[in-house]
Amino acid sequence: MPGSLRIGKIWGIDIAFHVSWLIIAVLLSWTLETGWFSVNYPGWSVGAYWSVSILATLLLFLSVFLHELAHALVARARGLHVKSITLFIFGGVSNIEQEPPAPDIEFQMALVGPLTSLALGGLCGLLLLVIGSKTSPVGAILGYLALTNIFLGIFNLVPGFPLDGGRVLHSIIWKLRGNVHVATRIATRVGQFFAYLFIFFGLMSFFRGAYLNGLWIGFIGWFLLMGAVSANNQSMLETMFKGVHVDDVMNRGPATVPANISLQKLVDDFLLPHGWRSAFVMQVDELVGLITLSDIRHIPRAQWAQTPVGFVMIPLARLHTVTAEQSLNDVLPLMVGQDLNQLPVVQEGHLLGSINREDIMRFVEIKRSLGLDQVNA
Ligand SMILES: [Zn+2]
Repeated sequence: MPGSLRIGKIWGIDIAFHVSWLIIAVLLSWTLETGWFSVNYPGWSVGAYWSVSILATLLLFLSVFLHELAHALVARARGLHVKSITLFIFGGVSNIEQEPPAPDIEFQMALVGPLTSLALGGLCGLLLLVIGSKTSPVGAILGYLALTNIFLGIFNLVPGFPLDGGRVLHSIIWKLRGNVHVATRIATRVGQFFAYLFIFFGLMSFFRGAYLNGLWIGFIGWFLLMGAVSANNQSMLETMFKGVHVDDVMNRGPATVPANISLQKLVDDFLLPHGWRSAFVMQVDELVGLITLSDIRHIPRAQWAQTPVGFVMIPLARLHTVTAEQSLNDVLPLMVGQDLNQLPVVQEGHLLGSINREDIMRFVEIKRSLGLDQVNA
C-alpha cells in the first residue's frame, strides 16, 4: 500500500503502518486528553493526562494490531499466504494473497478477529477488577481499553462487507447454499442494508446537531457501502469468467514484426499503415519480445534507420506470458494488478495469439447482450 512504513517482521509477516495512522494517533491522543481522561478522572496534573492519553493511544494501536495478527495467523495455519499487515486509519488490513478456499476456513479466519478484541476487552476489564483502583492512571487506561476493545469486537461483528461480521455471514451462506457467488450476492446485499442504516443514522445525528458524530457514522456507512459494491462487482466478474479460458477470448492473429528490421521500416511499413500501437517481435517463428510506441519514442529519430527492432524491444524474459489453457479468472488479476493491456499467449516458445483488454471487454459485452451474465441465485 503506498504511504506505508515498514516497522518490522513477525513470523515472516511484514508489519507496516500507514502514514494516515500518525494523524489519527495525534488526534486521538488529543481527544483523549481533552475529552475523556480530564473529564472522567478529575484532579490529575496536565503531564499525567498527556502521558496516560498517549499510552492509551499506543495500547489501542497494539490491540488493533493483535486483532489483525489473529486473522493473519489463522489464515496462515490454514495454508494461505499472508504477506503483510498494514495498520491504517480505521484499524488494519491483513494482506492475505488468496481468498479462503472453503467456507469453514473463511468462518474461522473472520471470527477470530472480533473474538480477539472481545477477549482483550474482557482481560482489561478483569485486570481492572483485580487492581481495584478505578481512578488511578493504570485503572483509567485499563477501563478505556476494556471499553474500546469490546466496542471494536461488537462493531466488527456487524454483518456488513468488508467487516468481519460480513465475512462470517458470507461463510455461513456459502456453507448452506454451496455456492460462493450466491453467498457473495446475498452477503453484499445485507452489507448494503447495514451501510444505508449507518448513513441514515449519521444524517439523523447530523441534523439533530451532533455534527461530528453524524459525519463519522455517515462516513463509516459510506465506507461499508463501497466495500459491499466492490465485493459484489468482483464476484460478478468471476462468475462471468468461470470456465472461460484464454483460448476462448484470445486474438489468433496478433500483430507481429521481424526482429531484424529497422525502426524506420517498422514505423513506415507496419505501425502507420495498420494503425498498430505495439507488435510482437519474432525471430523466424519464435517470439523474442514486444515493441511499443513508447519504446520507439525513446530513440532519437535520426537513429531510426540504423537501429534494429531487436535492440529496442522489451525482451521476452521481461514479458508476462500466459498459456491457452489458463483460466481467465487467473489471468485477469495479473492484467489489472500490473496494468497490462495485452499478454502474449505462448506454447513452447511459439506465439499462439494475444489476449488484450478490448477482446475481454467485447466478450463481456456479447455475454451481457445475450443475457448470459446473470447469476442463478
Ligand atoms: Zn477483523
